[in-house]
Amino acid sequence: MAEKKVILDHINDEGEQTLEVYQGHGGYKALEKAIKQMTPAQILEEVKISNLRGRGGAGFPAGVKWGFIKREALGPKYLICNADEGEPGTFKDRRVMTVKPHIVIEGIIIAAYCMGLDAGYIYIRGEFFEPYQAMDKAIDEAYAKGYLGKNILGSGFNFDLYTYLGAGAYICGDETALMNSLEGKRGMPRLKPPFPAQFGLYGKPTTVHNVETFSAVPSIIANGGKWYSDLGTSKSGGTKLFGISGHVERPGVYELNLGTPWKEFFEDIAGGVRGGKKLKAVIPGGSSTPVLLPHELEGMLLDYESIASRGSMLGTGAVIVFDETTDMVKVAWRAMKFYAHESCGQCTPCREGCDWFYDIFNRIYKGEGREEDLDKIENLSKFIGPNTICAFGDAFVTPALAFIRKFRSDFLEYIKKGKYGLKSGETSHA
Ligand code: SF4
Repeated sequence: MAEKKVILDHINDEGEQTLEVYQGHGGYKALEKAIKQMTPAQILEEVKISNLRGRGGAGFPAGVKWGFIKREALGPKYLICNADEGEPGTFKDRRVMTVKPHIVIEGIIIAAYCMGLDAGYIYIRGEFFEPYQAMDKAIDEAYAKGYLGKNILGSGFNFDLYTYLGAGAYICGDETALMNSLEGKRGMPRLKPPFPAQFGLYGKPTTVHNVETFSAVPSIIANGGKWYSDLGTSKSGGTKLFGISGHVERPGVYELNLGTPWKEFFEDIAGGVRGGKKLKAVIPGGSSTPVLLPHELEGMLLDYESIASRGSMLGTGAVIVFDETTDMVKVAWRAMKFYAHESCGQCTPCREGCDWFYDIFNRIYKGEGREEDLDKIENLSKFIGPNTICAFGDAFVTPALAFIRKFRSDFLEYIKKGKYGLKSGETSHA
């Protein structure tokens, strides 16, 4: 099984970011089909058949989510494209937006038409200035061509689309924090329920998907839901973008059928561990997913269920590879430093907990750790994840536990010998 290019088709072609070249490759044909030949109910049915699951990390079925919106409900309804992509290790959406922005826009318009939405916002991570410019340019082209605005393709359907550049806060990747940020408030997650389909942006029904999810929609409409579903497994249809980085021969963004064997992806496509070294560990889906050891990767398939059966998650498909020389205590220390910095501070177990976690990892990393520190992390973890407003608590607790359980001897060595210190210029979080 080789790479399967659906979203990434023509991604390396000259000028693919322009409307003219994108259309030359069949772009916007799916939108025309959706608007001129299909009813909203037929579009929804194809999306359900496709078995497309949200690619932002949670994996919720897209067709079910679209079905939550009451098309005939009075008042404005909104769409949000989550382009915040702040999970460490993740860089796939940035590539799609920069090089193939029209596939995102086409998917958004089809989704909006299906659900009867009035306006959409693409919330782009603050540091992503190049993708932001590419999306703005593509939106201008789409308006000029009549794909956005009033009476799209003569259908009587009106839809406006805007970009919004965030300020670089990781927590704004949470859909409700993102909505608060769009409304001009502090980017803090909201308690759910109510869910966005009932009370979303400006208190109105709202559908949120990430860039990759919307980008899959044109191929589903063009080729049919079954065609897309057959690319993946019985539980998760289609392809998935994987961004692989770290100690690997051929890092980059790849598109694979869901269910592709890990071994085939890692060894045949990405070239295996860089420089012929041995593999020490892999983070399979971004820094908030628990690290896996080489023996746990044996026989693993790249889909939601197979990775979950090993105690981790597909997440955003951000694969980080560590070779045998990697200092895993430092990896854990760096990850905890990130989370301690990014907590929004709204709920006590997370605000205090991630600082405590970082203080303990920092103490160990500085060579001042105590043997009871590892037990302390285990104990603290019980009071964080289930008691927080959003998933951020679990996002730092589960990877922290995986690090200390799977690399216990490395941590004990630091604690016993106390031989490593912070390098000059590195300071503690406080
Ligand atoms: Fe904020 Fe953390 Fe609470 Fe989420 S869990 S709302 S990031 S304090």
